[in-house]
Parts: sequence; structure tokens; C-alpha cells
Amino acid sequence: MKLTEIFRRGELSLSFEVFPPKTTSAFDSVKNATEEIARLRPSFMSVTYGAGGGTSRFTLDIARNIKQRYDVPMLAHLTCVSSTRETVRARIDDMIAAGIENVMALRGDLTPELEAGDRSGWAYHHAVELVRELKQSGAGFCIGGACYPEIHPESVDQHEDILHLKEKVDAGCDFLTTQMFFDNNLFYNFMYKIREAGITVPVLPGIMPITNAKQVERAIHLSGSFMPQRFKALVDKFGNNPAAMKQAGIAYATDQIIDLYANGIRNVHVYSMNKPDVAAAIQANLSDIIG
Ligand code: FAD
Repeated sequence: MKLTEIFRRGELSLSFEVFPPKTTSAFDSVKNATEEIARLRPSFMSVTYGAGGGTSRFTLDIARNIKQRYDVPMLAHLTCVSSTRETVRARIDDMIAAGIENVMALRGDLTPELEAGDRSGWAYHHAVELVRELKQSGAGFCIGGACYPEIHPESVDQHEDILHLKEKVDAGCDFLTTQMFFDNNLFYNFMYKIREAGITVPVLPGIMPITNAKQVERAIHLSGSFMPQRFKALVDKFGNNPAAMKQAGIAYATDQIIDLYANGIRNVHVYSMNKPDVAAAIQANLSDIIG
């Protein structure tokens, strides 16, 4: 099923993101975790694409398995920056063969080697080029793109970032998913600005439940997200108590999601990080809200 069909229904939706294993030996444990999440019957699930494409085939293996065994709509991520056109076209063909209807078109992060190297020979510089490639495939994919309520770290300012986002949407994105954020007001502000800029596609807020203190540092480092005082206090108080931190992190993410639904947002995506217990707890907290 295409995700646009889910968004068109106008009901509240909750979806979960998982990531593929980095090694063949980890495949079974990741597969089991993703199956546990699938048994929660989320609105859809997404599978990330390994940075640099190293674990690319596992993305499709996990997506295909969930789609076939659990009939949960799947969104497969694909990055392009370190790939040749031939590789990207081969991946697109693999997706078509696997019956994948939804693709998240991403540039991928620049590794220090990529940043230092000569860019003139790159087949892809930005995600917009991958969006065009997916459109040209003629497969009729439902295409997603990434967006950044707190600005992409490489952008000079938000105005420029939103101009590029508009170009990406105009090239064929059917929806957008945001980078994680911990202060909903940053998201509402961003929504106001992109709607003003003429971006009208559905935008799914991406919510990351922080369930251990170590994750905080990693999340901030990767996303550059602003940590509200309310969240910092929670980490200071419970960071050394794993069980308490997990409960508090799930409660904080739930609170963010309820606030989003209450303010008219219908589709929320949770970065559930292959943690079925966290996904289940959030879903249980929302059981009477999402029905
Ligand atoms: P782009 O849309 O290309 O934007 C990157 C930067 O380039 C921005 O600053 C933008 O303003 C600028 N830009 C865009 N177009 C142009 C243009 N035409 N000219 C000049 N500048 C331009 N990474 C993975 O490796 N695997 C994943 O599965 C994955 N999933 C993600 C899911 C989400 C929801 C998000 C938010 C990120 C994800 N990432 C993933 C990380 C992502 O690859 C990085 O954030 C990357 O740095 C940017 O990717 P993008 O697709 O947003 O790039």
C-alpha cells in the first residue's frame, strides 16, 4: 500500500522506524526485533539505509520480510551520495522486484573522506537528484524526503534550506519526515514557514524516544537538536538509573506525540531503533487516542 493512501484517510497514524543489521551475524536478531514491532500493527514501518550503502541489501531483506509476513506497509530508505548511477538504478530495480511501493529518497551524510574529496565526479550531489531518478524509473513510487525543523547543519540559514526543500518536493516528494526534535514549538514554527513557502505535502514529525543517557549525547551529536530545559532536567535526574530513564524517556516522547495530535498533526513517525519494548510502550500509552 502506498503511504499517501494512509495519509489521505485523515485518521491518526503511528509508524515505527527500524534499522538494518551491520553484519550478517546480526541479521537474525534484527529480523526478530523488527518482526516484534510489526506484530504491533503500526500504520507503516520504515527501514533505514546503512550510511554509505554498506548494508544496503539488508534494508530490502528486512522490508521484504515484514511486508510479506505481516502485511505492514513498508517504506525503504535509499541514499545516493556515495553511489554511482548504475548502483542506484540496480537498487531501484531490486525495490521494484521486491514489490516496494514507498521509498525515502535521501542524500546520505557526508563522511570526512567524501567531504575532503573532489566532488566533480559524483553522480549525485543532493537528494533532489535521487527523487528525479525515482520518478524517471516509471515505477510510480510514493516518495518521501527528509526535512529539518532546526535547519540542516550544512545550510547557511533556514530560508536557503526551505528553498532547497521546495525544489525537492517539486521534483516529486509525496511527503516529508522531519529530523528528530525535542521541542514541539520548533516543529510548529517550521510548519508555518514551509506552508508559507508553498510546501503542501504531508509532513510527519519524527519523534525519538530517548531511553538511556548515552543516547542523549549521540542524538544531539547526530542531529544538533535543541534540548529543552524540561528534557535536560529529566536526564540529570534519571540518567544514572536505567529503568527510570527509560520510563521517563518514553513518557516524554508520548507527551510530545499527544501534543502533536492535539494540535492537528495526524501522522507521527517514531524512531523506535529496533526496540520492540519501547515501541509497544508508546503504542500502549496512546491506545485510546489512536484507537
Ligand atoms: P538533501 O536534501 O540533499 O539536503 C542536504 C543539504 O543540501 C541541505 O543543507 C540542503 O539545504 C542542501 N541542498 C539540497 N539541495 C540543494 C541544491 N540543489 N543545491 C545546494 N544545496 C542543496 N541517512 C542515511 O545514511 N540513511 C538513512 O536511512 C537515513 N534516513 C534519514 C531519515 C530522515 C527522516 C532524516 C531526517 C535523515 C535521514 N538520514 C539518513 C540522514 C541524511 O542522509 C542526512 O541528514 C544528510 O546529511 C542529508 O540528507 P537529505 O536527504 O536531507 O539531503
